[in-house]
Amino acid sequence: MQNIDLKQYIRGIPDFPKPGILFYDISTLLRNADAWQLATARMAHAIAPWQPDQLAAIESRGFLTAAPLSTRLGCGLIMLRKPGKLPGETISLTYDLEYGSDSLHIQADAIHSGQRIVVTDDLLATGGTLAASVALLRKAGANVVGASVLVELTSLGGRDKLDVPVHSLLSYD
Ligand code: 5GP
Repeated sequence: MQNIDLKQYIRGIPDFPKPGILFYDISTLLRNADAWQLATARMAHAIAPWQPDQLAAIESRGFLTAAPLSTRLGCGLIMLRKPGKLPGETISLTYDLEYGSDSLHIQADAIHSGQRIVVTDDLLATGGTLAASVALLRKAGANVVGASVLVELTSLGGRDKLDVPVHSLLSYD
């Protein structure tokens, strides 16, 4: 299993969620115990040198990468969530999408000023979601030291929107 190419566990589903979109489905990786274990081990190995105090998880598939990574790395986990999901005082940031806008929230007391945070999601496409997450984390006082994704769609240039180091486990043109 060690030398295995994990790309064989990701499938492309045409015309989802809209006609013309090729959706990279990570479900087939998640449901294979050995492949998922290896993927999280490799991601944790890449992130460890950044020495995060906490991982920040982007709703919703970022929760899937963040949970095993935080236990492997021995650090905590902070949720970045859609509006109306987090109890207590929150800090929010609204960002533009292709059509319309979206918001992410973080609990106002989640981060101690200057804490080293690595933000994680399943997939980096245009970079809008991760760039907004980095901005929100900074607004909350974080020192964002990196971003980690399972899959990167390199032709969309998402990493150019980010001013932090980015690690992606699997990349596609
Ligand atoms: P971006 O903001 O970088 O354009 O899009 C990344 C966000 O959209 C991530 O939160 C990711 O979950 C979701 N996303 C966009 N395209 C895909 C895809 O093909 N597969 C998966 N699994 N998520 C996607």
